[in-house]
Amino acid sequence: MQDHRITGDYHTHTYYSHGTGSPRENVLAAIDRGLDEIAISEHGPGHFSYGVRGKKLERLNAEIAELAREFSGKIRVMRGIELNVTGFGKSDCPKDRHDYDVVIIGYHKGVLPFNKHALGIWGESLLGIRNDPHRNAEGILEAAAKCRADIISHPNLYLKVDIPYMAKCCRELGILLEVNSARVTLTSEEIRLIKDSGCGLIIGSDAHSPDRVGDFALASASVTSADAWDAVRNAVKA
Ligand SMILES: [Zn+2]
Ligand SMILES: [Zn+2]
Repeated sequence: MQDHRITGDYHTHTYYSHGTGSPRENVLAAIDRGLDEIAISEHGPGHFSYGVRGKKLERLNAEIAELAREFSGKIRVMRGIELNVTGFGKSDCPKDRHDYDVVIIGYHKGVLPFNKHALGIWGESLLGIRNDPHRNAEGILEAAAKCRADIISHPNLYLKVDIPYMAKCCRELGILLEVNSARVTLTSEEIRLIKDSGCGLIIGSDAHSPDRVGDFALASASVTSADAWDAVRNAVKA
């Protein structure tokens, strides 16, 4: 919205996974949008088709480090990752987690190889616990806490979670809940409830192409309708 400026986009993808642009194009787009910070946060290695792993992940991280040097003084380029919840309390958290500036964790379909989804059972449940948003929240939170995640992406996407419980735990753990700007996953009521619980929010574009880097329109509208800008950690009053 006009009266708030988002300072950083910590959720962007590139052609290293299933996006269309390069890390450099994302950085240039972020500069164009007037952001102070950008993270390249590719899908973690546990995703069957999008996961970035092995030598490719090493190349990506080297490229991010290079961009950080090149654009230093113009914009802060950060090494991020979007991990996958791979089972109850489990994720594809990398061994070198400490080398990442931003760690996001989210529930996705198509993860390897630890849960039923990898076997083609694309259910709306975590480890077979169907229709239990509280248990789902517990499983994701345990995974997030173990990897000391900074952000939980798109809560409720593919898997319903107990938002009041998740917000309370995230406040205690210092984890931010994302208002995703690629799709609406939280209602206005839920966003307001998260704010009222004292948990921080973060807006992410979830861009899969450079033209969407820094596109916060959808999330901004939701935050405005929830009157929750005070809780958004990557926004300042313009
Ligand atoms: Zn995601
Ligand atoms: Zn994403």
